[in-house]
Amino acid sequence: MSRVYNFSAGPAVLPEEVLRQAADEMLDYQGTGMSVMEMSHRSKPFQNIIDTAEADLRELMGIPENYKVLFMQGGATTQFAAIPMNLLKAEGGVADYIVSGSWSKKAFKEAQMYGTANCLASSEDETFSYVPDVDAIEVSPNADYLYICQNETIYGTVYHKLPETGDVPLVADVSSCFLSEPIDVSKYGVIYGGVQKNVGPAGLAIAIVRDDLIREDVLPFTPTLLRWKTMADNGSLYNTPACYTIYICGLVFKWLKAQGGLEGIGKRNHEKAALLYDFLDQSSLFSGTARKEDRSIMNVPFITGDADLDAKFIAEAAENNIANIKGHRSVGGMRASIYNAMPVEGVQHLVDFMEKFEKANA
Ligand SMILES: *Cc1c(COP(=O)(O)O)cnc(C)c1O
Repeated sequence: MSRVYNFSAGPAVLPEEVLRQAADEMLDYQGTGMSVMEMSHRSKPFQNIIDTAEADLRELMGIPENYKVLFMQGGATTQFAAIPMNLLKAEGGVADYIVSGSWSKKAFKEAQMYGTANCLASSEDETFSYVPDVDAIEVSPNADYLYICQNETIYGTVYHKLPETGDVPLVADVSSCFLSEPIDVSKYGVIYGGVQKNVGPAGLAIAIVRDDLIREDVLPFTPTLLRWKTMADNGSLYNTPACYTIYICGLVFKWLKAQGGLEGIGKRNHEKAALLYDFLDQSSLFSGTARKEDRSIMNVPFITGDADLDAKFIAEAAENNIANIKGHRSVGGMRASIYNAMPVEGVQHLVDFMEKFEKANA
């Protein structure tokens, strides 16, 4: 068996220990004589899986009592709709958005389908290479929420500082920085993300929602399954959830606890990112595309400045055990996603290869 260093932006690398445990438990989960894929979501073993996953997530993130953890289907994109549906007031509801990349732009567009949505600031003028200045933002006084995408996966930017929203709830898409370092949940009204970037297999979004934002009086056309209240009242088991994905996420939570929790993994993530950025900053061939102050520790886009040379790099990287290093189709170049499960050795291997490539193509 040979495994590559997989720099995919998502679905993405998972911890090898987790994959091995899942393989061991595949045919007979803890003496049940069946796989987690084959068991009822109403069974005791599955109830235990989802309860343990939630408890471990709460412990990892320090989620306060007055927040619910919801396991929602439909990925992050479905929440682009669920957020305005659940949070906009039926009469005169207003939502504020900061557009710092493709994902927040898509979320902003979706919100416009259901009500009034304002774009308070955008960094599209410079191809989303930076995060708009949050201190220059004035939240609408009647806003039902302010929305940000905390880590823009494609452009490799992250908010190092959150906007001050006063009483207006802050809603954050954390898909590509979920569980990457410690976070103060109490600063947010809603934190959510698709899990397939940094947490588990595709098919699930986890939403962490403050109790007062789980309302009965949502927009009247909101589908039953998109109402956070439905999920909260039913422990995310109103219908059949993404059972196997929840199980793998649970194994990843245990793995994270064994890595020293978010403190431990955060420290390692910063070391990994520094390794790559330090190389990029002194390289005469490669350069990062995101503004230095706003650089993400999870997604690192970079270019040579020559599309043919980029293509050559990607092809030779693939021959050297470096998979999925191609940048997003909308921006080109390269992108290394160095999520939690990417070992330090993987980043070192990439940097060594970049060094060699630079010498050979000087
Ligand atoms: C990938 C991604 C999404 C979309 O996730 P889906 O689960 O495919 O809907 C949304 N936001 C961010 C930040 C992402 O990285």
